[in-house]
Amino acid sequence: MTQQETPKKQEKSNTAGLSRREAMHMGAGALFGATAMLAGGELTKLAAQNVQATPLPATDPRYPMPPSWNRELRQLAPNVYAYTQAGGPNTTAAGVSNTGMIAGSDFLMAIDATQGPASAKAFIAAAKQATGKDFGRLIDTHHHGDHVNGNQFFPHAEILSHPYCREECLKAVANTPKMWNPTPGTAEVAEERKLVPPSVTFKDDLVYFIGGTEVQFRCVGPAHTWGDVVAYLPQYKILFAGDVGFFWVAPYANNSHISKWIDVCNAIAGWDVDVIVPGHGPIGGKKELAEMAEYFKVLKVEARKRYDAKMTAGAASAEIRLGRFDNWIGPERLIMDTVRWYAEWNGTLTPDYNAAAVREATIEYNQVKAGAKRVGEIIPLSRMVAMAVPC
Ligand SMILES: [Zn+2]
Repeated sequence: MTQQETPKKQEKSNTAGLSRREAMHMGAGALFGATAMLAGGELTKLAAQNVQATPLPATDPRYPMPPSWNRELRQLAPNVYAYTQAGGPNTTAAGVSNTGMIAGSDFLMAIDATQGPASAKAFIAAAKQATGKDFGRLIDTHHHGDHVNGNQFFPHAEILSHPYCREECLKAVANTPKMWNPTPGTAEVAEERKLVPPSVTFKDDLVYFIGGTEVQFRCVGPAHTWGDVVAYLPQYKILFAGDVGFFWVAPYANNSHISKWIDVCNAIAGWDVDVIVPGHGPIGGKKELAEMAEYFKVLKVEARKRYDAKMTAGAASAEIRLGRFDNWIGPERLIMDTVRWYAEWNGTLTPDYNAAAVREATIEYNQVKAGAKRVGEIIPLSRMVAMAVPC
């Protein structure tokens, strides 16, 4: 869901229905923005079912599970760093974005701000330790909270984005909670929370020369969102893809134009790129980006058969298996991605997240699983929460 849909009441109640372990595992910051998905009697009933099964839907033993990777600041080239968040099997796909950092002679430029105080401060501290410098520029690759909610922790940085990203941030300001509450993994102490929108926008490509590093910011949306920006460093053949890239993590398509997203992946395949830093998942390259596009293509074939047979998106996603992609982190995103394909085909696609359609499809998905006595594949409340968090 996008931030503007975040109700204020979440400040107090966002962990309702989750066990302490689940809440700690996810980090409550990852839960902001999820209350709309928790509203409604159907979801209460789902929570009451108290189903425990992870991961969901079932993995496929014929295929490898994703690797595990660490949270680390990794130098990729002189003055160029990637900061990845830890992940791997049995971790939720919701949460925090990877970021990038380019060091100039007098300031650092950040690519994305992460999702909250703990992750943003850890990123800033790692950057300071590596370079001795502070951030003077920050680019938001798109408007999702796990990329922009950390903006406030870059108080001396000019913040840039595509105009759509700024517009979505402005819409979200009023509904942003006023405080960060202490939550493991998200906020160590209670502190003021505010969403700082980007102050500089560009809709054509923009090139920065930071020290000796050329950074081409390319507007590639609509893809993951209508405001996607990627950062291409031609000298080093490095691409910071933002959420145009999900590696070993099921792609989140709630604000996406999937066909155009695949087109963007195909276009990047023609760029002179060796290393791709995705928004989520471990560092990879063109092969991993092509794999993510393949996820959508496999789903498209399966979903289209059922769309043509007049099956609903919820019933379709309860049937569809994706082979090796069933093992990717965040398998429940199959539902939202099916909903999104359907919207593209029936002409209802907009830049906005259709929360009602995803909720309806998820409920139907669970009804099908319950009817087939496949209760182990019913999506429990914690997974519903994870699915609602934008990445
Ligand atoms: Zn995103």
